[in-house]
Amino acid sequence: MQLEAVIFDFGDTLLLTDRWDYDKCLKNLQNSLQKNGVTLQIPYDQFKRIYFEVRDQMYHQSEKALEEVDFRVRISETLERLNEFYSCRSRIIKLAAEAFVDAFIEDLHMENFLPPLLSKLEEIYKLALVSNFAYAPGLRRILQCFSLKRFFDVVVISGEFGLRKPHPKIFEEVLKKLDVAAAKSVFVGDSLKADIYGASRVGLRTILVENVGFRKNPYATAGELDPYPVEPTVRIPNLSRLFDALTFL
Ligand SMILES: [Mg+2]
Repeated sequence: MQLEAVIFDFGDTLLLTDRWDYDKCLKNLQNSLQKNGVTLQIPYDQFKRIYFEVRDQMYHQSEKALEEVDFRVRISETLERLNEFYSCRSRIIKLAAEAFVDAFIEDLHMENFLPPLLSKLEEIYKLALVSNFAYAPGLRRILQCFSLKRFFDVVVISGEFGLRKPHPKIFEEVLKKLDVAAAKSVFVGDSLKADIYGASRVGLRTILVENVGFRKNPYATAGELDPYPVEPTVRIPNLSRLFDALTFL
């Protein structure tokens, strides 16, 4: 069936995270908290340990339901364990989340061919983005920083929507917003479970971007990089092969 929409994953599909220094991001977050008046009398390593305990516990609790908990809740709960009480809606927590994203942006990179590729695609297809990203304002800022926002008709972010890929509802949401049928859409992503299994279950064709060498981020959500018993419609080594792959679908 004629293809009308191309829907992308974000991390390690559009922008690459192999240079991501999570410690730098988390130190920036902790510095922001301290600068803005949170009295944390603990070394970074202890803060980091508690942060990851909170993060992993949250992911574990929401694993079955695939609910996304906002990044600001994660920060607020980390502080709660240190007997510091700040609402996840407070300005201090927001500034800390932004400080994390400031450092993350420095480490992200994209391949030079991406903007011309997206320009070419947007003349033919509707384009959308669906990302598992716990802090939606951060991802919107990243898209602006890399001048990518303009290419997408629809952006759905788990932190805003409340559910993570591979939940079918997040794929149904993007199709509804695009006003395109699943059978006329393709999903392009690097995760077999979140992207390929999730999208194919809703009836989309799928392209796995293997990006070998880029998918090494040790802080990826548990299971993100694992094998999964699903076969994409097409596999490509990186996005430079996407345009041709689409014509053969
Ligand atoms: Mg990804």
